[in-house]
Amino acid sequence: MAEVLTPFELMEKLIGFPTVSRDPNTDLIDWVEGYLASHGIESHRHWRDEAKTHCALFAHVGPWEEGGVVLSGHTDVVPIDGQPWTTDAFTVTERDGKYYGRGTCDMKGFDALALWALVEAKRRGVTRPLQIALSYDEEVGCTGAPAMIEAMQGVLPKAELAIIGEPSMLKVVNGHKGGVGVATHIVGFEVHSSIMHTGVSAVMEAAKLVDWANQMNAEVMAKKPTELAAMFDPPWTNSHVGTITGGTANNITAKDCQFIMGFRVVPGENKQDWVDRYTARAREVEAGMQAIHPEARIDLTGFFDVPALKPEKEGAAEVFTRRVTGDNASHVVSYGTEAGQFQDAGYSAVVCGPGSIEQAHQPDEFITIAEFEKGHRFMERLLDELGA
Ligand SMILES: [Zn+2]
Repeated sequence: MAEVLTPFELMEKLIGFPTVSRDPNTDLIDWVEGYLASHGIESHRHWRDEAKTHCALFAHVGPWEEGGVVLSGHTDVVPIDGQPWTTDAFTVTERDGKYYGRGTCDMKGFDALALWALVEAKRRGVTRPLQIALSYDEEVGCTGAPAMIEAMQGVLPKAELAIIGEPSMLKVVNGHKGGVGVATHIVGFEVHSSIMHTGVSAVMEAAKLVDWANQMNAEVMAKKPTELAAMFDPPWTNSHVGTITGGTANNITAKDCQFIMGFRVVPGENKQDWVDRYTARAREVEAGMQAIHPEARIDLTGFFDVPALKPEKEGAAEVFTRRVTGDNASHVVSYGTEAGQFQDAGYSAVVCGPGSIEQAHQPDEFITIAEFEKGHRFMERLLDELGA
């Protein structure tokens, strides 16, 4: 008989692989594949690209038919660089009723629970299929999941609903905002600042676009939100620049300036509309720059693009997850997840996982033991619902 690991042992194992997004996740995937195989579960890989440094894994247990449940998690974690950790981030440490370690909360704790449930589904037998989908590159803009979801559909019978186990304190989250970012590179023309009227300062032109974001924020905040938008906090799409770099010296008009214009878009609004409005403003600014120096320009490139999770009316995922958790309220959040990508691919989707988003990405990230055990009971009830 193959060894059956507990959810805690599985979490310890997964956290031991330092799968920061920029580094390969193949050691973790190799291990998961081997563990599932030892329990007679076949898994499938989807490689990011030919470099074969990053891959997703998915697997199916139960009757070979459509209509099951997918438990979805990401395998990557955010870096610990510069963070004041008091424990070894890649070893689970128990202290004061908490499990500390990078990913305990976001989201290898859930991944471990999902792997445990899959093996139990196989051991006990289920009348409705259970699938697991483990992605890569979630923390760098949810760029791994779309290709994984597409690959899954060609290999496994399509599940009806997806539960994305991002930390929600096991509340059933049926809506979140979408996000889109536009990398902006302003190319100016350098002259001495005493004759700046003959040059183009990329920094000063950038200020116009940053201020456009201020104006947009003021505009949307002054408007009455739609009914859908009113579910979110804040009930509008915000436009934001987090970092900006540019310029060479105090007395030179800047040659370059770079930043990301990011939008957190409420469901019901079109992300592309925001990109289009921004692009239109950038072209206006660019025309002014080129009137001074024809080679000045603004380059815009898509940086990240994560669809919103639109609340479904009595959606299958929501109804199912409410039965499992007993949580009858609906919740929405303002952070993005892979749930909108599953929904766009035709799954009913919710976010529901143990732990609090407040601990995600933090130094000394933790999940409370109580919350992890609640996650274990969640999986037990989920197995009951699947006829185990
Ligand atoms: Zn996450």
